Amino acid sequence: MKIFATIFTLVLVSSAAHAATMTVSPQGAQPGDAVTISIMPAAGETIQSIGMNAFDTQSVRFFVRPNGVTRALVGFPFDRTGGSYPLAARVAIEKDGQTREQVLKTTLRAASRNYPSQHISMNSSTAGTMNKKAALRAEKLRVQAAMKNSSASPLWSGVWVKPTRGRESSSYGRRRWVNGKWWGQHNGADVKAPSGQPVLAANSGRVVLSEYLPNLRGNCIVVDHGANLFSIYMHLSKRLVSAGQRVAKGQHLGNVGATGFVTGPHLHWETRIGWEPVDPNRILARGVSF
Ligand SMILES: [Zn+2]
Repeated sequence: MKIFATIFTLVLVSSAAHAATMTVSPQGAQPGDAVTISIMPAAGETIQSIGMNAFDTQSVRFFVRPNGVTRALVGFPFDRTGGSYPLAARVAIEKDGQTREQVLKTTLRAASRNYPSQHISMNSSTAGTMNKKAALRAEKLRVQAAMKNSSASPLWSGVWVKPTRGRESSSYGRRRWVNGKWWGQHNGADVKAPSGQPVLAANSGRVVLSEYLPNLRGNCIVVDHGANLFSIYMHLSKRLVSAGQRVAKGQHLGNVGATGFVTGPHLHWETRIGWEPVDPNRILARGVSF
């Protein structure tokens, strides 16, 4: 019995020293925040594949960083509350020519965040867009398709810039009703600004979509910032860049307008990790380290 206990202890010590680990940060994240998941292989190990879903992200996309850590950004959705969220990843690890599978676990301890409600009135012909389910879905699929292949390394750097001047007319996460009918939580931030005012790239990246999408988004530009992080600019009166083009932080992308599903000129801008919307103002305030 004594011998068995000793061997068991040795095995524990050796696996602790040689196992890959997973961490999530920041602890205390709130709904709408970007969280970072990091998987660190042990010495001599190579990570071959990772299968993970987290919150509403079905297949988390990981990127290998220069220091050997494998890392992913994930959006913590705006409809969650505070509490403990267990996370698990199934990782295939190669060592000395042999591959084995390991399940890594960690926990995000999240804090709550409350969002205000907003009731919007619009004329019934504009509001009729809400019932065009098939057209809205087709438009969404078009945008999602453009966001499939994010650059493997970050294209952004340093602080983010607010894309246009003006007062925030509707913040991220607001629970919104249009003509008394539930429309959803606001997945971006609205800046009230006159038509024609320049809209700038919030950070550097590559344009992956620049199109007129008549139902919801109007004239729309999507910028890939790398590592699955995107910014989206909607309802523009004018677009000055095209898909495939590299853009610098602060570059003039287009102008504020009132195209698509709107009641007046403003910029609706979003930041998304994959398809999960995160709070653009949090990104402006804190940046994104990766
Ligand atoms: Zn909006």
